[in-house]
Amino acid sequence: MTSLNITFDSQYPLFIGGELIEPDNGYMDVLNPATGEKLTQIARGNATDIDKAVQAAQGAFNQWAATTIEARSRYLNAIADILETHQDRLMMIDCLDTGRPIYEFIADYTMAINQFRYFAAAILTHEGHARTIVNGQLIVQKEPIGVCGQIIPWNVPMIMIAFKLAPALAAGNTIVLKPAEDASLSCLEFAKLFQSILPKGVVNIVTGLGTEAGDALIHHPGIQKLAFTGSTAVGRLVAKAAGERIIPVSLELGGKGPQIIFPDVDIDDAVDTAAMGFYTFNGQGCLLGTRLFLHRDIYDEFITKLIHRVEQLQIGVPTDPDTRISTLINEKQGKRVLQYIEDGKKGGATLLTGGNRRHVPGCEFGYFIEPTIFEANNDMKISQEEIFGPVLTVIAWEDFEVMIMEANRVAYGLSAGIATNNMELALKAAHQLKAGNVWINQFINFQTGAPFGGYKESGIGRESGRETLDAYMQSKTITLAYRLPPAGSFG
Ligand code: NAP
Ligand code: MG
Repeated sequence: MTSLNITFDSQYPLFIGGELIEPDNGYMDVLNPATGEKLTQIARGNATDIDKAVQAAQGAFNQWAATTIEARSRYLNAIADILETHQDRLMMIDCLDTGRPIYEFIADYTMAINQFRYFAAAILTHEGHARTIVNGQLIVQKEPIGVCGQIIPWNVPMIMIAFKLAPALAAGNTIVLKPAEDASLSCLEFAKLFQSILPKGVVNIVTGLGTEAGDALIHHPGIQKLAFTGSTAVGRLVAKAAGERIIPVSLELGGKGPQIIFPDVDIDDAVDTAAMGFYTFNGQGCLLGTRLFLHRDIYDEFITKLIHRVEQLQIGVPTDPDTRISTLINEKQGKRVLQYIEDGKKGGATLLTGGNRRHVPGCEFGYFIEPTIFEANNDMKISQEEIFGPVLTVIAWEDFEVMIMEANRVAYGLSAGIATNNMELALKAAHQLKAGNVWINQFINFQTGAPFGGYKESGIGRESGRETLDAYMQSKTITLAYRLPPAGSFG
C-alpha cells in the first residue's frame, strides 16, 4: 500500500544470512496505530527461525572477528552514510509504524547516525596493552564475545537499532536482533540497505512476538551475550536466562525520572523544558522526567504556566509537522495509560489538566491522550510506577535534603533533571541523585559517546559510550616467557 509516498512490500520475510527467508510459521499484520489501517505484514518468527539466524551468525563470526579494525570502521561509516542518505524515508516509516509525531524523528536519526560514526572512530583506539615482565611479555588483548542476541522496544526504533548494532559490530561480534513487533518496519527496510554493505550473516533480523521469537533468542545455547532494552519485567527474564547460561547481559530498562525545579529559575524557560521533558515521545520514554519536584515559593505561578503550555500543544495526526502529541503505540498501551489516570484520581491525586482520550478526525483507532498533570505526593502509585504515557505528577518541595531523598525514593534510576542558576546547588544535587544521567538546565541531551544507562532497577551496563565496547568484548591476558624455566627451578 502507499501512504504519503511510502510504499511497503506486501510482506517482510526474515533477514537471515543476508537473504530474505520465509518464516517457519507465517506472518502477522502491521497496523498504523493512528488509523488502524493495515500497512503490511511481517514474519512471525519462532524458535526454528531463531535457530537458523543463530547458525547464520555463528557461520559469519570467525571471518567478521578477523577483519581489521580499520575495515570494521569503514563498514560502520558506510552504514552511517546509507542511513543518512535514506533517513527521510525511514523517518516517515517510523512515524507511520509507531504513531509518534514526525517532527521528533530528526533527533532520532541524528543520534542513530552519530552512533555508527562514533563507534567507527572509537574502535580504532580501543586497544589492549602489553608490557615487559621479568624474562618476557604480558599481553592483554580484547576479543569479541561471539554471537549477540539483542532485543529492543518500539518507542525509538532507529536509536535502539544503532545503540545495539554499532558497538557490537565495531567490537567484532555477529548479531541476531529481534525488533519489537510494533515497530519492525524501519529495521527491515534498513536491513535491505545494509545488506549490500555487510558480509552475509553478520547481522540477522528475526521479527516476531516477545514470547515466541524473543523467548527463543534469550534461551538459545548459541548466544554468547544478551543485550536488552525494554521493561523491567521482561528484563528480569532476560537476566535470568543469561544467569542460567553464565553469559554477560546488558539491560536498559524503565525509568521514572525526577525533574527538580529550584525557586531561582526563569519560570517561562523552566516551564518549557519541564513540559517537553514529560510529553516527548507521547510520554513513551524510559528517560522522561515524569515526577516534577517543584519548589513551593514558585509553585502557583509555575503550575498556571505549565498547564497553559501543555494545553497549547497540538494534538493531531502523526504526519503533521506541527503535531506535538499523537497516538500511543497500541490499544493495550492506551488502555493502560487511561487506567493509570483513573488510579491517580481514585488514589487522591488532583487532576490539574488533561486526563482524556482525544478523538482526532480520521484517526479514531488511535489513543491520543491529552498531556495530563496531577498534583500528587511521592507515595502514590502514579508517582512510583512507570506509566509510559504523557502523564506528569507534580510534588511540592521546600527542604533540599528531603527533596533529594524523595527524588531518589523510587525503584528506578535512569534520568534526572535540575533547573537552577545556582551551580553549587545544581552540582550538589547532581552528586546526590541516584541516576545514570543527570541533566542541568536542560532535559534529554544526548551527547554521542556519553554513557547512557541506569542505576537500580533501570538496568545494568551503559550504552552509547566508549565503555560499551568493553561490554561487547572480553579481555585475554597472555603472559609469555622468552624461554622455559631451567629444569630444577621448582625445587
Ligand atoms: P517490553 O514488553 O519489555 O518489550 C521489549 C522487547 O522485549 C520487545 O521486543 C518485546 O517483544 C520483547 N519481549 C517481550 N516479552 C519477552 C519475553 N518473554 N522474552 C523475550 N523478549 C520479550 O517493553 P515495551 O513495552 O516494548 O517497551 C516499553 C518499556 O521499555 C518501558 O518499560 C520502557 O521504560 C522501556 N525502555 C527502556 C529504554 C532504556 O534505554 N532504558 C528505552 C526504551 C524503552 P514484542 O513487543 O515484539 O512482543
Ligand atoms: Mg507499529
